[in-house]
Amino acid sequence: MHKQMVISEGHSFIDGEISSDKSGDAHPNYYPATNEVINEVYYASKDEARRAISSSLVALKVWSSMTVNQRSAVLLKAAEILRLEVADLAKLEVLDTGKPIAEALSVDVYSAADALEYFAKTALALEGSVVPNSDALIYTTQEPLGVCVGIGAWNYPLQIACWKAAPALMMGNTMIFKPSELTPMTALKLAEIFIRAGMPAGVFNVVLGDGAVAEMLLASDKIAKVSFTGSVPTGKKILRQVADSLIPVTLELGGKSPLIIFDDAEIDQAVSAALVANFYTQGEICSNGTRVFVSRDIHDKFVEKLVASTRKIVTGDPLDPNTQMGALISPAHMKKVMRYIDAGQSEGAELAFGGKALTTGKLTTGNFIEPTIFTACTDEMSITCEEIFGPVMSVLAFDDESEVISRANNTVYGLSAGLFTNDIKRGHRVAHQLQAGTCWINNYNVTPVGMPFGGYKHSGLGRENGKATLLSYTQQKSIYVELNKIENPYE
Ligand code: NDP
Repeated sequence: MHKQMVISEGHSFIDGEISSDKSGDAHPNYYPATNEVINEVYYASKDEARRAISSSLVALKVWSSMTVNQRSAVLLKAAEILRLEVADLAKLEVLDTGKPIAEALSVDVYSAADALEYFAKTALALEGSVVPNSDALIYTTQEPLGVCVGIGAWNYPLQIACWKAAPALMMGNTMIFKPSELTPMTALKLAEIFIRAGMPAGVFNVVLGDGAVAEMLLASDKIAKVSFTGSVPTGKKILRQVADSLIPVTLELGGKSPLIIFDDAEIDQAVSAALVANFYTQGEICSNGTRVFVSRDIHDKFVEKLVASTRKIVTGDPLDPNTQMGALISPAHMKKVMRYIDAGQSEGAELAFGGKALTTGKLTTGNFIEPTIFTACTDEMSITCEEIFGPVMSVLAFDDESEVISRANNTVYGLSAGLFTNDIKRGHRVAHQLQAGTCWINNYNVTPVGMPFGGYKHSGLGRENGKATLLSYTQQKSIYVELNKIENPYE
């Protein structure tokens, strides 16, 4: 491996510093583009998990008693550092995830900084409420929950850490964050940046490891909330695990979202959206519009333009600024995606583009797959029903509006949906009927931090981003202040 790509060992970050405990198992961390080892990552031991919890509890007292302005200043400073150090952070994200550097530079780090800034500012404007009553002053306050656990997926490691940490911390909670074992490095950097920005030690701890480490944290009765991003089966497992402790849960889970192209859509725009909705971050995005429903009247023209544009996508070395599609996260995940591509062909879909692993030249040892388009898909095929989480698009023809709405909704998932039309009435009418947490009209996968994000049905519980997320990291207290003398009913 090139010397530049060897990075320092990964250790949990507890109580303001890198943990020196080496009693947990060491695991190699791979660069998805070559599958070479970039560093060793030490999973947290039981003792480290315990230390993280006790440090978070101590820090909670300090942090929750600081003013909201003081907390806001720390997060704003951290956002500033993220932006200043975008180049280093983006490169680290690429080494962990295999995504193109152009994406990491323009989206991943900035969207993380945006979240810190948004919640730092929005929390300043929060107010309680007064309940009208002539006998008493009744008001409500929002109090922090306590020590929250954040658990992240591997596709947007830094962004996910900030989407969870920013609202939790702004409301006076502390957080223990467990990144995916596959992409642990930028969450550790974030912890370091928070300290440099003036955050007290222990407010944001990072505990490294796999699902077993997350389970260890969640088994503690000191945890007040868990916010999880990952797959539906793991989300359900977490819900079951915390059932006894009755703590609030936010679940950001998977999807199989529809993107509907009506016959009056601007085709070139719709093609662009379909590409972004399927091939950005090698297709490893939960909200991707992987079921592209196209009006039969424009189907052939749409597919022709789609294939022509897909042909131009540059797949390759993620660190090359011209690369547009990078490597999938792991060989195991690549095999899973290839199995779906095989299944698509054997189930009768037509391969309109791609479908092959890229294994020549510089890409020989990495996890690269061509952007892949299937046409002649039906609703029952495994490629159209199951989340693939790779660069595989299924195109389905439809005839009328009510038919496509019912087909789009015919899934256990409900994360996102998109539609392209120039008919303003139809746009709103259809959006209102789609069972999805987010619905884009004439665009796809744009997620400004002020817009709530989360799923219907099995795609999740609760929301991230948007003002209301702040409240999901609080509990409401009602305070009743008597204004009159009270009588003793027993005299
Ligand atoms: P997983 O569910 O496999 O893992 C997610 C996180 O949970 C990882 O940190 C993982 O650790 C951890 N984990 C695994 N087992 C347990 C357990 N028993 N208890 C607690 N935590 C556990 O998902 P992936 O990382 O593979 O991510 C892909 C999935 O995430 C896709 O389904 C995708 O749709 C979804 N996703 C959803 C998003 C959303 O906002 N709705 C955004 C991004 C992804 P480890 O990795 O170390 O095993």
